[in-house]
Amino acid sequence: MELIDPFALPAHEFFKKYSGESLTFNDLCILQPRTIDFPVSSVSLKSRITRNIAIKTPLVASPMEDVSESVLAIAVALQGFPAIIHYNLEIEEQSEQVRLVKRFENGFVKDPITLSPRDPITRAMELQQSTGISTLPIVDGNKLVGLLTKNDYSGRKHSQLAVAERMIPLKLLEHQIVRMEELPEDDFQRLQRANDLLLESHAGVLLIVASDGNIDSLVTRTDIEKSEAYPDSIKDSSKSLLVGAAVKTELGETRERAAELIKAGVDFLCVDSSHGNSAHERDVLGYLKANYPEIEAIYGNVATAGGAVQGIKWGADAIRVGKGVGSICSTSQVSLGTRTQITATYSCALAVRRYCAEHNIEPYIPVISDGGYATFSAIGKGLLFADCVMLGSMLAGTDEAPGEVIYDRQGRKLKGYKGMGAVEAMLRGSSNRYDEEASAGIVGEGVVGMVRAKGPVARWVPKIKSGIKKCFQSLGYRDLESLHEAVFNGEVLMERMSEAGKLEAGIHDLAEYKKDLPLD
Ligand code: IMP
Repeated sequence: MELIDPFALPAHEFFKKYSGESLTFNDLCILQPRTIDFPVSSVSLKSRITRNIAIKTPLVASPMEDVSESVLAIAVALQGFPAIIHYNLEIEEQSEQVRLVKRFENGFVKDPITLSPRDPITRAMELQQSTGISTLPIVDGNKLVGLLTKNDYSGRKHSQLAVAERMIPLKLLEHQIVRMEELPEDDFQRLQRANDLLLESHAGVLLIVASDGNIDSLVTRTDIEKSEAYPDSIKDSSKSLLVGAAVKTELGETRERAAELIKAGVDFLCVDSSHGNSAHERDVLGYLKANYPEIEAIYGNVATAGGAVQGIKWGADAIRVGKGVGSICSTSQVSLGTRTQITATYSCALAVRRYCAEHNIEPYIPVISDGGYATFSAIGKGLLFADCVMLGSMLAGTDEAPGEVIYDRQGRKLKGYKGMGAVEAMLRGSSNRYDEEASAGIVGEGVVGMVRAKGPVARWVPKIKSGIKKCFQSLGYRDLESLHEAVFNGEVLMERMSEAGKLEAGIHDLAEYKKDLPLD
């Protein structure tokens, strides 16, 4: 290997030198090992969230009340990474959140929401409010008899009427109905043909019916437009957006929750616990793997090599690393077992790779570094070792995260963001994440706070993606795979930054300056 610099160390030697010390983002200087000979735009951000689920951006939205519900899950899946719907919701509510994501851009909407001609118009209005879906096939039994869109009624004038009085009847829909047997058998060709038919028509929706006239599925013009606008979107084999969901470490409840989430079409589950290496987590993971071997599950959180390997032995399909490091986290003040994020991530990632190599586990189990990420360079440093970085605070301020924007006294736009271990959240269900009984004696492990509003995901996340690409490019690597190879074989060198160095790395010695950092 070419000598880059005589004073820096490869990762393994660096962490050995500082063994016994818990280091984090700002402690690390990463040296540029290669000549940069390509533009930022040619960097690929492809990665995996679990063993077999590929994603196009190495991020995941945290399963938190103020981050991951269906609206954000849709927005981030269009940008290339999944969200994990949190579990402080009733089982039916959480499953419905999953369903909304799966329905969003389905290619074929296989299980369309329908109404009967006898339903009142107000039912269509309610559905539009609660699901955003306004194009409704009208069926008698299952037989297609009409179509109702938001253009077919006025809430003000027609709320007293039945659907039959405002729907477009079958005889006026001929140009937008096609029989299943007229379409090719191959899934991909069938969707192409249906999309072509729709684009040739003047309609917003194409209805596909079985030979007996029963509704089978539909495709919509907005779905076609959306998929053309978001080339990075991540989808399953039926072209629905990818989404995960959190389950508890309480086996009794998880049996029911997991069954409903899987029925709703969830792509992977996350056994969500702040103390991952526990008998509860072992039991839940064991149950999921035995009963739903096709559904991949994330295990965690852990912060040690031993904790990470334990997860693999129990059947984990991804290891979530991070204890005591989240922006809203007070675990370090009330409990033990925490560790700074970079040391934890390196130690776990190295142990996982070694274990997988020794046991012929191919591809190796991905590591998700979770918590503490507040700058693009921090994400870049986490991704030196991890396959994916989990974000809470960096997404909680987006328009699509739950909650309203509020203005503080200085006129700044803010959004609420609290820990799942804040007592307020724990009483709604997440106490299980902290192995607590929801009772008067509960010890909070998180705070209730606010973050700066970030605007829409479609504007904010592309900046994060460019930031990550810049990090890879600044070291001379075009993708995560070649970066990881270089880090773990010792090509990437690092040094510890001194306290004086941290001051130097910040903006300094100016009388004043205009803040124009990407995170503002
Ligand atoms: P952030 O991205 O730094 O805001 O951290 C988010 C991460 O903090 C989540 O993905 C969780 O792992 C963790 N977390 C969420 N709520 C709490 C809490 O109340 N206490 C401790 N950690 C939390």
